[in-house]
Amino acid sequence: MIVVEKKQELKEYLAAERQQGKHIGLVPTMGALHAGHLSLVKRCVEENEVCVVSVFVNPTQFNDKHDLETYPRTLEADCALLEAAGCAYVFAPSVEEMYPEPDTRQFHLGPVAEVMEGPRRPGHFNGVAQVVSKLFYIVEPDKAYFGEKDFQQIAVVREMVRQLELPVEIVACPIQREADGLALSSRNVRLTPEQRKEAPLIAHTLQESLALAKKETVEEVKRFVCDALNANPVMEVEYFEIVDGHTMQPIADWKETDYPVGCITVYCGEVRLIDNIKY
Ligand code: AMP
Repeated sequence: MIVVEKKQELKEYLAAERQQGKHIGLVPTMGALHAGHLSLVKRCVEENEVCVVSVFVNPTQFNDKHDLETYPRTLEADCALLEAAGCAYVFAPSVEEMYPEPDTRQFHLGPVAEVMEGPRRPGHFNGVAQVVSKLFYIVEPDKAYFGEKDFQQIAVVREMVRQLELPVEIVACPIQREADGLALSSRNVRLTPEQRKEAPLIAHTLQESLALAKKETVEEVKRFVCDALNANPVMEVEYFEIVDGHTMQPIADWKETDYPVGCITVYCGEVRLIDNIKY
């Protein structure tokens, strides 16, 4: 495994690989890797002769300075995990290397970015589009792997790829969870032991709501989930929307889509946790 900090150097390595007819897969990450990330890496290694993993805490997608400053950074441990997983190249650039000048590009990502996370994290999806498009220009991957934990992010990346006409296939990978159901996240380490004990309630409640779906109205399922979580003193639901999983637009009736997905963001103390469920 080769760890590269410079984009030019990575491009040269990958040009040589491509010349040998090898396919290139990319897994974009912000590091602090866990089994969720590694499931993407495993799939990438299986489906491509060359797996590239980027580890870059992208400042332009953080709308909260404190979140950026306290984001966990564990490059050495990440590299050990990636080597064991069969990754060929780790791309770990500095902020200056990725942004030699400020990225002033404004993406117009349309309705998929205007709901849920969009208005609540101003600038977040624009920053995601900036960094992911740069990574796609540098790596020119055949396929790129994203986790369904960030369900709306996948729709945003697909829209960006469509607008820029980039020749990359976006592969969506299922959410990986702790044994107690909590969706794996780099931010879980910030939970206090008490909050960590309560946090699986999010996944449990979503799971319970499956039984209600389609026999109760969309509105009733939403109320059930919000009430169950808000009843817990350490939790506060920021939003819970049931959306068309293709368009991200909220539905009012199950009949509106063949792909209903419930997307939730919950504050567990100070920690913002996200999860989702397919109905
Ligand atoms: P991040 O480092 O948080 O930007 O995540 C990098 C990639 O890993 C994104 O595509 C995430 O959706 C994905 N990911 C993070 N957590 C999980 C998880 N629990 N299961 C599956 N994919 C995940």
